[in-house]
Amino acid sequence: MNFDCIIIGGGISGLTCGIKCAEKGITCAIISAGMSALHFSSGSIDLLGYNANHTVVHSPFDSLADFIDARPDHPYSKCGIDTIEQSLAFFKNQAAIKNLELYSNNRDNHFHVTTLGTLKPTYFSQKSVFDEHMKDAFSNRPKVAIINIEGFRDFYPNLTAANLKKSSLFKDVDIISGSIKLPGLKHINKNPHEFRSIDIGRIFDSGLYQEKIADRILKVAKDAHIVAMPAFMGIDKHNETIKKLNEQTGLLIYEIPTLPPSILGMRLDNALKSRFAELGGVFIAGDRVTKGKIVDQKLLSINTQNQKTTELNADFFVLSTGSFFSGGMVSDFESIKEPVFDLCLDFSAKRETWRSKSFFQAQSHPFLSFGVKTNSRLNPIDQSGQTIKNLFATGAVLANYDPIKEGTGSGVAISTGFFAAKQILKIL
Ligand SMILES: Cc1cc2nc3c(=O)[nH]c(=O)nc-3n(C[C@H](O)[C@H](O)[C@H](O)COP(=O)(O)OP(=O)(O)OC[C@H]3O[C@@H](n4cnc5c(N)ncnc54)[C@H](O)[C@@H]3O)c2cc1C
Repeated sequence: MNFDCIIIGGGISGLTCGIKCAEKGITCAIISAGMSALHFSSGSIDLLGYNANHTVVHSPFDSLADFIDARPDHPYSKCGIDTIEQSLAFFKNQAAIKNLELYSNNRDNHFHVTTLGTLKPTYFSQKSVFDEHMKDAFSNRPKVAIINIEGFRDFYPNLTAANLKKSSLFKDVDIISGSIKLPGLKHINKNPHEFRSIDIGRIFDSGLYQEKIADRILKVAKDAHIVAMPAFMGIDKHNETIKKLNEQTGLLIYEIPTLPPSILGMRLDNALKSRFAELGGVFIAGDRVTKGKIVDQKLLSINTQNQKTTELNADFFVLSTGSFFSGGMVSDFESIKEPVFDLCLDFSAKRETWRSKSFFQAQSHPFLSFGVKTNSRLNPIDQSGQTIKNLFATGAVLANYDPIKEGTGSGVAISTGFFAAKQILKIL
């Protein structure tokens, strides 16, 4: 099989790269072994959330120049600010084409509420998590009701409310909490292990019981103006569902990102995969790339678990296999390895320095910044110190950034995926 470009890994980074390539008419395949980090994430896009001293960044584009100057090896430094900005505009536009609206606070960060009732700075959120109505309504310090579905064990509205009250942003806001019974759940209740956000999402998507749900929300919300519920209001039909609920209740209804499985992340995943397919991209799911043939600094072909003897050829390849979480890097007690091409990694050899002593501490864990070494174009370097000129590494597999400490996770994944596509398109 021959393609202009083969992308290894179908997370947010590989998909951004694939959509950008496919949009320009080049033949492109994505091979992806399993679910990506999107299914576990908040579904919001972090661009730059924290400074080096762990203070919150309010205006990422005002801080990026200094941030980059201080970190010449950071993936953002390789992309440059213009590409970062273009990539975010491109991403927002592609999601909107698939009816998934992403909101930012102009060019500033906004906060989204977490399941635990903490506030997390982020750059884009889905409309159901943050938009201008929410911002306007919030300036009047409205009463907020945090409402769960009875029996949903991944969310505790009292805890969320109590922690929110501790933050300066919410301290004068009247917050109540409660739960409603969701009609149509009887069959799920037989097996409590299946009672997850996805099960609830399917009930919302069915459109059944909509009026009953609206009535029950109204009863629990009492005189609140804003209702926040865990993000389970549908996977495919969330826009219609939330719009109808707003109309039926006369309240502003918003979603709080939940623990995995993340419906907000799944909505993004669905939108990106569907966009890639409609542009003619080929998505090969459930197969793992195992090795490649590299001659004279050029990757000629790859093999997969399912295609052991058939070589897949392309002019360009992109490695977007994620971090340890997705198998883009693997470790044992002594070493860390990039398993497909055995690329050169940036990591500290002493195992006792891989993690910090305490799990929760501001300086984070060193292993989060381990990853593939590249040149300034994101071409990875092999064990002999040579770059592989037609291979690009993007997203969480890259070294020299810490998605948690910096709050840069999806921002790096999107901008590096876009940057690789731009370079491929220049040549093809
Ligand atoms: C639990 C969690 C929560 C997060 N929350 C947020 C958040 O709220 N906001 C934010 O901005 N960022 C968040 N991040 C960070 C951000 O989501 C990731 O940095 C980003 O999604 C990484 O995308 P990626 O495409 O590089 O890799 P991934 O999403 O990890 O995707 C890699 C893909 O490659 C596939 N793969 C791996 N090896 C192979 C192989 N050999 N052959 C074929 N396929 C392969 C994997 O199966 C996977 O599908 C979170 C990360 C995690 C892990």
